[in-house]
Amino acid sequence: MLVEKTKEIIGHFNFKFNKSFGQNFLINEEVLEETVENMNLNQNNCVIEIGAGIGTLTQEMAKNCKRVVAIEIDDKLIPVLEETLGDYSNVKIIHKDVLKVDFKNLIEEEGLENVKISANLPYYLTTPIITKIFNEKPGIESLTLMIQKEVGERIMAAPNTDGYGVISTLVQYYAEVEMVCSVPPSSFIPQPRVDSVVINITIRKEPKVKVLDEALFFRIIKTSFSMRRKTLWNVLKQTGLKEDKLTEAFEISGIDPKRRGETLSLEEFGRLSDEVKKRS
Ligand code: SAM
Repeated sequence: MLVEKTKEIIGHFNFKFNKSFGQNFLINEEVLEETVENMNLNQNNCVIEIGAGIGTLTQEMAKNCKRVVAIEIDDKLIPVLEETLGDYSNVKIIHKDVLKVDFKNLIEEEGLENVKISANLPYYLTTPIITKIFNEKPGIESLTLMIQKEVGERIMAAPNTDGYGVISTLVQYYAEVEMVCSVPPSSFIPQPRVDSVVINITIRKEPKVKVLDEALFFRIIKTSFSMRRKTLWNVLKQTGLKEDKLTEAFEISGIDPKRRGETLSLEEFGRLSDEVKKRS
């Protein structure tokens, strides 16, 4: 049983959980199986795992793919991983803060192909790491993430709902997201206070919307969400565009300037940012 095995390893190494690293180790076999099954791994896939812990997820993936590169920040866990993963010749452990990893370099240096990322992520790392990966665009196939339920809902949120924000637009622009399963707190040692979910993020071949200027498109989105209470007219005034040009941009894109950014779909943000671009 995974729970006993985990307790045995923790006891054997006299491991003390480090709260600041958000350590909640998975002990639910069903969730483990479902997560790995949904990654659809084959012998051509390489996996980058973020936060290997004691190697529970790592081992399951290593059995089903070509290679796993497992990144772990906690030096106390490195000897544990060396033992639990000792029999897997296709696993490499990297002792590093994942926020300092350049994913493109890592993939190149390690010669990784058909790369999928997986992680049971600590809460503090979720938004920074997703943002980092989507900004770096390292050329991966998918991300399978175990995250706090509320963050999962934000990633999947539709316009005009509470959770809709920059992270929803960023992920949905580049990828398709699907829910894999719910994960109750009892699935971890120690138990977190919140519910979790597993989501699968599959990178699209082309972004969901074609835009003239991606940087401008995301700048408008970010400003809209940082000024949630303001109308789009006030948001777009920040672009420095003259009022007559701004009026034209709204008219031609067919978007009411009195609307708020949080009501716009990706297509609408795209239309509006294209009309702004043409007049800038
Ligand atoms: N994958 C294991 C599992 O499912 O049982 C552990 C998951 S635990 C929620 C998160 C892991 O990420 C911990 O092992 C923690 O030490 C590690 N971690 C936290 N911050 C990290 C960082 N910045 N870089 C790399 N690993 C990190």
